[in-house]
Amino acid sequence: MELLRGALRTYAWGSRTAIAEFTGRPVPAAHPEAELWFGAHPGDPAWLETPEGEVSLLTALTDDPEGQLGPASRARFGNTLPFLVKVLAADEPLSLQAHPSAAQALEGFAREERLGIPVNSPVRNYRDTSHKPELLVALAPFEALAGFRQASRTTELLRALNVSDLDPFIDLLNDQSDADGLRALFTTWITAPQPDLDVLVPAVIDGAIQYISSGATEFAAEVKTLLELGERYPGDAGVLAALLLNRITLAPCEAIFLPAGNLHTYLRGFAVEVMANSDNVLRGGLTPKHVDVPELLRVLDFTPTAEAQLRPLIRRDGLERIYDTPTAEFALALLVLDTDHLGHEVDAASSHDGPQILLCTEGALTVHGKSGSLTLERGAAAWVGADDGPIRLSAQRPAKLFRATVGL
Ligand SMILES: [Zn+2]
Repeated sequence: MELLRGALRTYAWGSRTAIAEFTGRPVPAAHPEAELWFGAHPGDPAWLETPEGEVSLLTALTDDPEGQLGPASRARFGNTLPFLVKVLAADEPLSLQAHPSAAQALEGFAREERLGIPVNSPVRNYRDTSHKPELLVALAPFEALAGFRQASRTTELLRALNVSDLDPFIDLLNDQSDADGLRALFTTWITAPQPDLDVLVPAVIDGAIQYISSGATEFAAEVKTLLELGERYPGDAGVLAALLLNRITLAPCEAIFLPAGNLHTYLRGFAVEVMANSDNVLRGGLTPKHVDVPELLRVLDFTPTAEAQLRPLIRRDGLERIYDTPTAEFALALLVLDTDHLGHEVDAASSHDGPQILLCTEGALTVHGKSGSLTLERGAAAWVGADDGPIRLSAQRPAKLFRATVGL
């Protein structure tokens, strides 16, 4: 068991305060800090703090796969850690994106290899062969757009904007208010010629301004998001596409699970994420990065999805609040130690054997494993190899600890 130092990723949409404050570094940070990766992704592995100095988690797994990953995980996923934990801080919206299914990732990776596109090229879509289901749990209020809203409700939103240029699209959705209708409308917008977008997007923005100044409230959150995206990306088809997605606000500890093909963008907030160990992203707009609309259209799932369907069931089991997802690569639980748990050791065995990544997000606690003990405070993470578990915990102050394991 060792302290695990996350690999810091700086992107323009990150925050100069959230991650720095979380990990106890000076604020504001020199660069916008977007993600802290805790995992063994070859692109940016995390670091074990050992008595001999820092060792990459990737190296540690290569040196001792049986001890670190255990037989069960190795039998299913080989000598790699199948999940990746991230702390994510967004001050600005991310790109409009979706992730491929396992079959799509395999096929896409092979295709781009055949085409000879270098794996680190900015125009590469498939950087590995894995799907990338992702679970996001808010650490502070978090805002996102995710999943195609029921078409009838989207029709109401488009009507409320009172923009005559939208009439043909309202008719389209009225005539076909199912996944095929949403596919037709999204495809029309995302592939529209730029001169058409340069008329339609400003008209919709005008409608949004009128809507807000009228004092209407029904779609206030959706329309404010539209204005914000329009200001940042004028003329971008992604601004229109955003009108089709559920506008979601998560309170701390609330979560969304995004399966393959789910169109989404994170707007702002601070969260912990766990995902399959993959970097496969297909973007459709709202970004200066590589956008590949035809490939995005191939992987998207247009089935209308209510916000409630994206929120995983949270199951209680002893100290654990388990976020239920159907993913083999990972499972995530939040362990809450309150005042009743102070000063004595409690059993924190998981129903999953194999490796664990622990992330303390509140308070202070000590983790006890076979090889020794480690104290974690807010912002600190630990790696518990398979041969070090099961663990016990003792809290010095009421504490919250996220635990990522391999899925069932
Ligand atoms: Zn994503």
